[in-house]
Amino acid sequence: ARRPLIAGNWKMNVGGPEAMPLAAGVARAAKEFSRVEVVVAPPYTALAAAAHELAEAKSEVGLAAQNMHPEVSGAFTGEISAGMLRDSGASWVIVGHSERRQLFGETDEMVTRKVAAAIAAEIRPIACVGETLEEREAGQTLAVVERQVRAFLDELAKAPGFGVVAYEPVWAIGTGKVASPADAQEVHAMIRGLLARASIGLASATRVLYGGSVKADNAVGLLEQADIDGALVGGASLDAAGFRKIIEAA
Ligand code: 13P
Repeated sequence: ARRPLIAGNWKMNVGGPEAMPLAAGVARAAKEFSRVEVVVAPPYTALAAAAHELAEAKSEVGLAAQNMHPEVSGAFTGEISAGMLRDSGASWVIVGHSERRQLFGETDEMVTRKVAAAIAAEIRPIACVGETLEEREAGQTLAVVERQVRAFLDELAKAPGFGVVAYEPVWAIGTGKVASPADAQEVHAMIRGLLARASIGLASATRVLYGGSVKADNAVGLLEQADIDGALVGGASLDAAGFRKIIEAA
């Protein structure tokens, strides 16, 4: 069975000294539920401090960045490479988040390059996919998510189980509108099928997370679905006590 994974995406919040008590609180919560793998994704500026805090707590909580550039180094002002993430103490990276796709013009092709570069640098990618409200209402959900997953499928297949996929319907992010467990499971099952087409080993080893308004009170129903292996949590990951309840639900 796949180990449940709960990841907290802090987005552009908690980038200063306040990252330390939050990281410490998550470390304490994660120790209570060691069957669950826990990852936190602070802003770049708080990675090193969070890494220090987690090491002090002898915590196994993983540290993720929220983005990276696919090149190793060079003239890319304002960008951060996988090697730099590693130097900051991160061993995970979120790529292709819908906010990056929608607000910063990330294409499937760019997301694929990032997945490949992360794996090459031994940073574990959490590759995000998901349809907009418009696409869902037009009945295009499965087609859109299939296209997004197919883009990086070959890269994930190079290291089965190393990468993670996160299904985050755009209309459910930060809106309080969570996908029903059945609707989410339908998309997760389709993603599992795509992974299986690449290889059975890839399908059985890859965690597929759900994200979008996950809270303590809706986590259980989502996480009991056969193909939902964890959650990528935004707003509710900013409070250690609330995040602890989601870890407990897994
Ligand atoms: P919310 O949990 O705030 O809806 O955010 C979800 C998300 O985008 C996590 O990456």
